Amino acid sequence: MKHVQALESEVRSYCRSWPTTFTTATGSTLHDADGRRYLDFFSGAGALNYGHNHPVLKEALLAYLTADGVTHSLDMVTEAKERFLARLEERILAPRSLDYRVQFPGPTGTNSVEAALKLARKVTGRERVVSFTNSFHGMTLGSLSVTGNSMKRGGAGVGLTAASSMPFDGFLGPDVDTVELLRAFLDDGGSGLDQPGAVILETVQAEGGINVASGAWLRDLAGLCREFEILLIVDDVQAGCGRTGPFFSFEDLGVHPDIVCLSKSLSGYGLPFAVTLLRPELDVWEPGEHNGTFRGHNPAFVTAAAALDHFWADDALTRSVRQKGKRLEAVLDHLVEVYPELEGEVRGRGLLLGIACGAPEVSAGVVAAAFERGLIVETSGAEGQVVKTMPPLVIADDELEEGLRLLDAALASALDVAPRADGELLSTAR
Ligand code: PMP
Repeated sequence: MKHVQALESEVRSYCRSWPTTFTTATGSTLHDADGRRYLDFFSGAGALNYGHNHPVLKEALLAYLTADGVTHSLDMVTEAKERFLARLEERILAPRSLDYRVQFPGPTGTNSVEAALKLARKVTGRERVVSFTNSFHGMTLGSLSVTGNSMKRGGAGVGLTAASSMPFDGFLGPDVDTVELLRAFLDDGGSGLDQPGAVILETVQAEGGINVASGAWLRDLAGLCREFEILLIVDDVQAGCGRTGPFFSFEDLGVHPDIVCLSKSLSGYGLPFAVTLLRPELDVWEPGEHNGTFRGHNPAFVTAAAALDHFWADDALTRSVRQKGKRLEAVLDHLVEVYPELEGEVRGRGLLLGIACGAPEVSAGVVAAAFERGLIVETSGAEGQVVKTMPPLVIADDELEEGLRLLDAALASALDVAPRADGELLSTAR
């Protein structure tokens, strides 16, 4: 028999970084078929903010399945869906005074983005959408057209149209205000930029190198959008659901997007699930104008409602993410200091952090050395130059420390130097 890996397309990628067969997973750890344990600082690319197989969510899911609850329902009304919508309103939207309609666009992040783009074009009658350098919004054609990465764009095989990429915060260095640059393009009839219907962005570019938009930049951009009657779409697929601290990555930054994309950790259990949130006056869809078979994935409604109940009844998770994020950032700062060969820079917010390395070979070496030591971390950025550390939000303190010790050892190994300040470093950074 052909080796099963040979059966799978060359397009597979993560399995190349972590060449083993995984079997079980709980909390912040994964196990493989050889019985090895791995600490997970990857969290399913943001789909596992509450860790693997969280017992509270598992219990809700098992109870629902055992009772023969409806599994598939297109957009018919089910109790599970009603419960999810009620929890979303009660736990998330109402306490934040956010008035959004909820669209179920299909189960993935890119489904949410496609719905957002299509709606923005329909509402404004303008086809152009402004996106930003190093953005990542998904792999279907609309989402890809607003994604920066040239390798991914090259895979489209057709022209990617009706989108214009502008420089993100910091792309042209700290001294260039790129919102002012966009304003100049919008203001000047000779700029060649068609009046856009929408601007789409991530507040922290998770795939594109962990680039953080400052609050001031975001507020200026939101103001510019209002002035030119451009809809503001925030893609919170990866940075949302508590990853940066609050439920929405933008909620403490003084911006109020017209449309919000959510997916990844929304189900809380790794089950495919997405929503697109829209200001009520934008809800100009005709019934069935945008549909899809898997918009009623009830097991995901069940775990999502359980996650909202369990984690978002108060601000305990947000406070904990901030505290763990501070600890992680402090240690990353120290690592960059004690390994100057990295030419490293720490980036990110909350528990979405990373070290940008001077050379992509170094970051690739760190990922490989970390894997050998039982730590799962991935890279981010156009050249894969950023080591991305994204543990589950619920990681235990001792597991976080263990992961940081492994990271220290992996950095040393990748740089071919002796581990520096192991233990010492970790105790002084606290
Ligand atoms: N938007 C962002 C910000 C993402 O990080 C991703 C996935 N990495 C997507 C959209 C696409 O999500 P999916 O892979 O579920 O289509």
